Amino acid sequence: MKEKTKKTRSYGEGLEKGQNILIIGAGLCGSLLALRLGQRGYNVSVYEMRPDLRKVDISGGRSINLAFSDRGNKAIKLVGLEDKVKALCIPMNGRMIHDKNGNTFQSNYSGRDYEYINSISRSELNALLLDEAEKHENVNIFFNKKCKSVDFENKTVLFSDNQTKKEFIKKADVIIATDGAGSTMRKSYYLGKKFLFSFSQAYLTHGYKELSILPKPNGDYKTHKNALHIWPRGNFMLIALPNLDGSFTVTLFLSYTDGLYNFDNLRTEDSVMEFFAKEFPDALELMPNLLQDFFENPTAPLGTIKCSPWHYKGNTLLMGDAAHAIVPFYGQGMNASFEDVVEFDSVLNQNSENWEAIFKTYENRRKKDTDAIADLAIDNFHEMKGHVNNAIFQEKRKLEMALEKEFPNDYSSKYSLVTFNENIGYREAMLRGRAQDKAILNMLSDKRIDLKNDSKNILYKVKTETEAILKDDRIAGLK
Ligand SMILES: Cc1cc2nc3c(=O)[nH]c(=O)nc-3n(C[C@H](O)[C@H](O)[C@H](O)COP(=O)(O)OP(=O)(O)OC[C@H]3O[C@@H](n4cnc5c(N)ncnc54)[C@H](O)[C@@H]3O)c2cc1C
Repeated sequence: MKEKTKKTRSYGEGLEKGQNILIIGAGLCGSLLALRLGQRGYNVSVYEMRPDLRKVDISGGRSINLAFSDRGNKAIKLVGLEDKVKALCIPMNGRMIHDKNGNTFQSNYSGRDYEYINSISRSELNALLLDEAEKHENVNIFFNKKCKSVDFENKTVLFSDNQTKKEFIKKADVIIATDGAGSTMRKSYYLGKKFLFSFSQAYLTHGYKELSILPKPNGDYKTHKNALHIWPRGNFMLIALPNLDGSFTVTLFLSYTDGLYNFDNLRTEDSVMEFFAKEFPDALELMPNLLQDFFENPTAPLGTIKCSPWHYKGNTLLMGDAAHAIVPFYGQGMNASFEDVVEFDSVLNQNSENWEAIFKTYENRRKKDTDAIADLAIDNFHEMKGHVNNAIFQEKRKLEMALEKEFPNDYSSKYSLVTFNENIGYREAMLRGRAQDKAILNMLSDKRIDLKNDSKNILYKVKTETEAILKDDRIAGLK
């Protein structure tokens, strides 16, 4: 581990001095939060149940990557790591769609050339954040310490040490749980029955399995590097994101039980080969390692978790996936968890006097947006596995690309509003984006607009129709 350099800076007054903050979970959100709170001058202790991923390979040899975009980057800029993170990124300019005959076409994410998303390694990003957090002498990270329960009234956490098997208790001024979708602190809220805690968990009928496309023997990529590849097949799909080493991490999203092929019945090598040969023949050619990956890697479920309140008095707070886990189809779970840190930081800038007020204001500002991205992510599940292949959807995308290109300051599609407009909240992006989608699809199917029309006139019609829909939504109480 690196020597600690004394780089602590303090960004304000009030609660910042001498307060001990205990963070549960050193994943993406927890390590970023530790870094930011360390920069602000708090005494931060982070407890992580897994071994230190910088020293032990906890990925089982798999490289897992994520789509990283502007909301996440806003947080990375806040902590001053933009250049270091950029070095880990591979730009993906659009979706590369693969049909069953092996034909491909690319659909860009935006008509503006400077708007793209990135593929980034989860473990390398996490390791960088841990390194940077640990540079602050007021930040300490402890590995192999599993949180077993939280006494949110007395601000204590019960841990067990995975190596010594001993249990111990830690007390803090404030406890923040960033322990992911299966959060133990959330369970303590729920099981404690001490306050009105609402909780919902909704699984998709689909699960996912990670596979891989390995590099060519000379290290080159076997297919186009700068795209998010999708093989949409209506009820299921395969996607692939590039890694810096020339490989791609491939993910199969498939129902557990429905359809001719599903996770429950793909039990033999022959059935897996038959499924891929029929549905993804061009991908199969790139995946001689398919069977090994398929039978070695786990199948995991996908779900949405919503809960409230996120905090108990001024004692404890849930953040990241622990507060709002979403399905991965908008590529926004990590980005939203990073944006949590930006929002939390901005609340701290306004009030560092009273934790309860800070937590309340943070949740009031934030929850509507994390609820919105949860719903948008479900919408995108349907869009990615099916609609991208649909003619009217493709026409809409073409039209939106043209509008974004020609009127870069005047038009942003729903995808752009969500992904590249980090200065508006997810909820605003959702309301405007959905209204625009409805306006364009209605006008295309009624033949009120056509790609051949004058683009200024199309923009005017889209904007007018969108405003009318937003007005109707407001009257109907949707806004
Ligand atoms: C298949 C898939 C693909 C995804 N793709 C994307 C994407 O492209 N883009 C994107 O933005 N997001 C994506 N996400 C979402 C993203 O992974 C999460 O939103 C993000 O990891 C949340 O960060 P977190 O720190 O809140 O939780 P996690 O990253 O889950 O971190 C939680 C940490 O807490 C630790 N922990 C858990 N329990 C305990 C305990 N009891 N005691 C101590 N420590 C504990 C864990 O070991 C872990 O280190 C994807 C998710 C999935 C499942």
